[in-house]
Amino acid sequence: MVDNRRRAFMRTPFKRTSKVSIQPLPWLKDVSTFTDNCTRCGKCIKACETSIIKQGDGGFPSVDFKSGECTFCYACADACPEPLFLEEHAQPWQQVISIDDACLAKKSVECRSCADTCETQAIRFRLSVGSVAQPQFNSDDCTGCGACLSPCPVDAITMQTNTKTITEQQL
Ligand code: SF4
Ligand code: SF4
Ligand code: SF4
Repeated sequence: MVDNRRRAFMRTPFKRTSKVSIQPLPWLKDVSTFTDNCTRCGKCIKACETSIIKQGDGGFPSVDFKSGECTFCYACADACPEPLFLEEHAQPWQQVISIDDACLAKKSVECRSCADTCETQAIRFRLSVGSVAQPQFNSDDCTGCGACLSPCPVDAITMQTNTKTITEQQL
C-alpha cells in the first residue's frame, strides 16, 4: 500500500529524494513531522549552551552527543520561531543509552569513565568474580542527557532514540 506522503511525492516531478537522518532535539512536539516544519534557520544551533546542536543531514539541526551533553536549559526551544517545541515543563524526550560489547569492562579491562560522568548514577559498577567490575545500567534513572557518550574511549555507548530517517522531497 502506498501511503499519502509517498503518493504526494510520486505526483511531484523534478524533486530529488534523499535520506535524512537526525538525532532529534529535546522537547520536539512531533519528530515525524519535524523536517516538514523546521525552516533550518539555525537559531537553535546558535542558542545551545553546550554547542551540541549541529547542522545535520539536509541542513536540519541534529544533536551530537560526541560534542557534549544536553543540560536541558531549554535555550534551543526558546530560540525557535516555529511552533515545534513542547512547553518547558514537559518531558524533553524518550531516550536512554545502551552499552554494547565493545565496553572495556566487558573485556576485563578496568574502566569506569561512563559512571564517573553520570550525575543520576544510572550507571553503577558492581564487582564481578573473575573479572573487573561490570557496568549495571538502570534505564529508570537515565535522563538521556548523553554525558556518558563522549568519555567512553571505545564508543561502546549509543543513545537509543527515535532517530528519524525519512524520505525528504526537496532539500
Ligand atoms: S536544551 Fe540546552 S543544552 Fe540541550 S540541546 Fe537545547 S540548547 Fe542545547
Ligand atoms: S530554530 Fe527552529 S526552525 Fe530554526 S533550525 Fe532550529 S528547530 Fe528549525
Ligand atoms: S545519558 Fe546521562 S543519565 Fe543516562 S546514563 Fe548517560 S550520563 Fe547517565
